[in-house]
Amino acid sequence: MSVSALGYVGFSVSDPGAWARFACERLGLMQGATSQGVMRLRLDSRDWRIALHEGSGNDLAYAGFEVANGEELAALEQRLSDAGLPTKRGGAELLQARGVCELVTTEDPSGMPVEFVCGLKDRGEIPFRSPVGTSGFVTGEQGLGHFVLSAPDIKAFRRFYCDVLGFRLSDKIMMGPIALEFFHCNSRHHTVALIPAPLPKRIHHLMFETASLDDVGFALDRCVAEGDPITMTLGRHTNDRMVSFYVKSPAGFEIEYGWGGIPVDDDTWRVGHYDKTSIWGHKRA
Ligand code: FE
Repeated sequence: MSVSALGYVGFSVSDPGAWARFACERLGLMQGATSQGVMRLRLDSRDWRIALHEGSGNDLAYAGFEVANGEELAALEQRLSDAGLPTKRGGAELLQARGVCELVTTEDPSGMPVEFVCGLKDRGEIPFRSPVGTSGFVTGEQGLGHFVLSAPDIKAFRRFYCDVLGFRLSDKIMMGPIALEFFHCNSRHHTVALIPAPLPKRIHHLMFETASLDDVGFALDRCVAEGDPITMTLGRHTNDRMVSFYVKSPAGFEIEYGWGGIPVDDDTWRVGHYDKTSIWGHKRA
């Protein structure tokens, strides 16, 4: 058994207002509730998917993975402590802040808090409505998207994500002597990918997948019109076939904004092996 999906992420950003404007006005996310100074953003019917905490990190501060139910959470808690990882149950205040029923927290090999939750609150009564007309995001069973992390100690990260959390390898892309590794925990091609090198930040990028190709084109036009730094031009990835572009967010880490990723079926999936990240495009701008 594994975690079922990426539920949410928290960022430490020096200017939460600027980040939220970027996310809503260019990427089409929706402003959620702000409480105790934490701005929240939505991309579907869930109460929130992104939390913006004012801070100097300008990096990923924590990630929250969903598990199916309380029994699964207890089993995972046991697996974490069997693996020698510290675990802590979320108290009333944290449960309230995250809007979940149950929560267990630990740390990944970089020391980042990773949370496991069940019962992430839904907001069916306030339907998602993009302020710029984005038709929607692919979430649901596939979770909020994917993130790519700096994993200088790749063995420790592999142990954490695969042996303990139950992620499976989707494929690898060789970049000369360096292998990028992509892992799934549901039908999304990858929820986590690892770069085995030290990078300035924990997170390289967070990916949002839109419901239509036009959503990507419209967002690209908005980013270009506003002068946001496009870090990679429009292109299609070799492994997950995502058509996407990359833009630098106001906190410095990148957002991949794409459409058309292929799903993984564990019964028939074969681990792929590539020597480039993209079939076409994705030129460093
Ligand atoms: Fe990506």
